[in-house]
Amino acid sequence: MNNRVVLVTGAGNGIGAEVAFAFAAKGDKVIVSDINQEHAERSQKQIVEAGGEACAYTCDVSNVEQVIHMMEWIDETYGRIDVCINNAGISKWISPLELSIEEWDKVLNTNARGTFVCSREATKYMKKHQTGGSIINMASTRAQMSEPNSEAYAASKGAIVSLTHALAASLQEDGIQVNSISPGWIHTGDTQELRSIDHSQHFSKRVGEPADIARACLFLSDPQNTFITGENLTIDGGMTRKMIYEH
Ligand code: NAD
Repeated sequence: MNNRVVLVTGAGNGIGAEVAFAFAAKGDKVIVSDINQEHAERSQKQIVEAGGEACAYTCDVSNVEQVIHMMEWIDETYGRIDVCINNAGISKWISPLELSIEEWDKVLNTNARGTFVCSREATKYMKKHQTGGSIINMASTRAQMSEPNSEAYAASKGAIVSLTHALAASLQEDGIQVNSISPGWIHTGDTQELRSIDHSQHFSKRVGEPADIARACLFLSDPQNTFITGENLTIDGGMTRKMIYEH
């Protein structure tokens, strides 16, 4: 579980930054990829200062050519790719009556199409080197439950859950496991902002943190856990198991 080549998209901030840090801390080589170059470099610097190995790579996952080029670069630079974590994602909270086709496409093209294209391109190199591999896609509990005005985001995350089990079936002969994670509320900002009700409403009595997701990524990509594939792991402190009758 070390010295692997691990790509994390959207690693310039939040969950992705923590995931990248966690893999580097285990001794893996991490490609810290993000649309925002400054943020990618910030995450990479944090890893290197902590003694890890990482490089920053600027890539917009909704741009197919950029993704193809990134994977070529990873293969030329490292000679393999072992783990692909499709974490980059955006959301849009707007009434379905006001949501434009451009806004719909932007969310779907980043979240769902970006996940597909990154998986497809990473798989080419996993197959080429016959190394097997692990693909982990970041979905959301919003694939299964909704608040108003979340249509594009919910649809994109539902697509990611379905794409995950379809890819797990298609890539089985290549020794590639494909799983998704559905985070619930993962607070990526200052925890001082949170109220006690934010924590207490969860079965776990706390809001989630990026490290909760990072540990799950390490678990799912562990070569000992190849019996887990096509699965969606919900990490939400119990919120999607909670009955919400008001009384
Ligand atoms: P975040 O906004 O803090 O970070 C997302 C990162 O993705 C940013 O660094 C951003 O620059 C990058 N990004 C955006 N568009 C991109 C693109 N086209 N190409 C490459 N990079 C791009 O988000 P987060 O809260 O850390 O969420 C990370 C993932 O987890 C997302 O897919 C999100 O939908 C999912 N998620 C988060 C939560 C949560 O509560 N934080 C809950 C469920 C699911």
